Amino acid sequence: PGTLYVVATPIGNLDDISARALRILREVALIAAEDTRHSVRLLQHFGIETPLAACHEHNEREQGGRFLARLQAGEDVALISDAGTPLISDPGYHLVRQVRAAGCPVVPVPGACALIAALSAAGLPSDRFIFEGFLPAKAAGRRARLEQVREEPRTLIFYEAPHRILECLEDMRSVFGEERPALLARELTKTFETLKGLPLAELCAWVAADSNQQRGECVVLVAGWQAPEGEEAVNADALRVLDLLLAEMP
Ligand code: SAM
Repeated sequence: PGTLYVVATPIGNLDDISARALRILREVALIAAEDTRHSVRLLQHFGIETPLAACHEHNEREQGGRFLARLQAGEDVALISDAGTPLISDPGYHLVRQVRAAGCPVVPVPGACALIAALSAAGLPSDRFIFEGFLPAKAAGRRARLEQVREEPRTLIFYEAPHRILECLEDMRSVFGEERPALLARELTKTFETLKGLPLAELCAWVAADSNQQRGECVVLVAGWQAPEGEEAVNADALRVLDLLLAEMP
């Protein structure tokens, strides 16, 4: 069978496309794209004339069969999204699952991904992190989700729409606290790229004071929860004592 290549495309700066991505996009029989009109421009820029077919949230399951037939006939197919890595807050999951289930090879062609780009320059702990994607759009749902990760020790990463960035940061401030270190990464790789790291209360004030910061695409990173000084040690001791006592019980 043919191979399904999952190809990352730039998140702004077109120079971020890899030489391998360009070669594969040129060589495959078909490119499955989230929005064909959007991707036509990218391909034109690089002089690539491979045919495109739509593969988005609403048709991914039905279209899957069509792409699978092409793969089973021995043709290679590439999957791209509008920006960055497919499947990362973008379509592709159902297709990849279906293709793998059918026994066809699926090969990643890595490249830009907004959350990884933001994390790589944030200066927040990067050894362990969790990606929460987009928070619910409505305030109640968003706060409930934030509450669930309030005591998460790993660095938290969120995607957010620009028109909700301020209310989102305000909710983070009320759930995570004024002092929790955070960073707003906006318009990465583009002309107005901005990375601003501040405690949440100050970050809210900074964004509120400048409407330019409420435009464009953004990633929000928040430092993980840290146990107040001493608390962890006390708990560990308490647990050891408890273990000893339990062992003595009849
Ligand atoms: N698949 C993409 C990736 O690999 O990052 C993400 C697609 S998701 C539909 C779009 C969201 O990603 C935006 O709302 C924003 O949160 C984030 N994003 C994408 N490009 C960005 C950029 N250049 N700067 C900051 N955030 C970006």
